[in-house]
Amino acid sequence: MSRRICRYGFLPALAGLFLFGVFFASTSQAQDYTLKDLNEQLVMGTLWYQKSAEMRAISYQAFNIAKLVFDMDVAKGPSEKKRAVVVDIDETVLNNSPYEAGLIDRDTGYPKGWAQWCNAARAEALPGAVEFLNYVVEKGADVFYVSNRKVKFKQGTMKNLKSLGFPQVEDAHLLLREKTSDKEFRRQLVRKDHRIVLLMGDNLNDFDSIFRKKGIKDRLAAADQFKDKFGTMFIVLPNPMYGEWEGAVYNFNWRLSPEEKSEARKANLNTWTSD
Ligand SMILES: [Mg+2]
Repeated sequence: MSRRICRYGFLPALAGLFLFGVFFASTSQAQDYTLKDLNEQLVMGTLWYQKSAEMRAISYQAFNIAKLVFDMDVAKGPSEKKRAVVVDIDETVLNNSPYEAGLIDRDTGYPKGWAQWCNAARAEALPGAVEFLNYVVEKGADVFYVSNRKVKFKQGTMKNLKSLGFPQVEDAHLLLREKTSDKEFRRQLVRKDHRIVLLMGDNLNDFDSIFRKKGIKDRLAAADQFKDKFGTMFIVLPNPMYGEWEGAVYNFNWRLSPEEKSEARKANLNTWTSD
């Protein structure tokens, strides 16, 4: 009998070790903060973007102000160089929020699936965008789409813009990202033969490179520095889902883990509590 116990006594120990391993693995897994957890924070911004009438109103407001500014310029009479309106694409004239919503509840993030989204050409237009840009062309000015979508997405982007009725969706008017995300060179290309009356975008980099790669404080200071340009030369559209503002929160270290990103976001909140 004792020999048998001795012989098989390692079995309970082995089972115990196995159970401990399972328990340890499951608790450590439960503690892992993944992209799926971080993506929960996308819910409110994306929901606001898609379902608030305020977002819709702000979009109309942006294009109404753009029309006022454009009309005021046209009223000054003939322009030496042809007039141009420069617009960004994503979250300026096209609404990609279904792509963002598709990240929620999933353990994945940009750029996963972005190529498929662009190629599907299913984005909707931002309210007021199609009407305003057609108006610009009717009045004899040109529209330029200066976007950081990569050139490889040109076909899908053109198909999407055309299907929605945007004007001048042609190679010469679509300046996508080739080497750098800095749009200054592309703005200069437009300025060769045109006078830019207005720039429209959801990211301050869409207006001037002075805003690029700056920390939170410097971005805020730069916005103050250009305060007279907003609504007169630069028209901003809202984007609570992503943008360079988010990069500034991470000091542009996009490689932070999901948990570190969440911590950086919360650490940057100005908080008040009563106790
Ligand atoms: Mg954009």
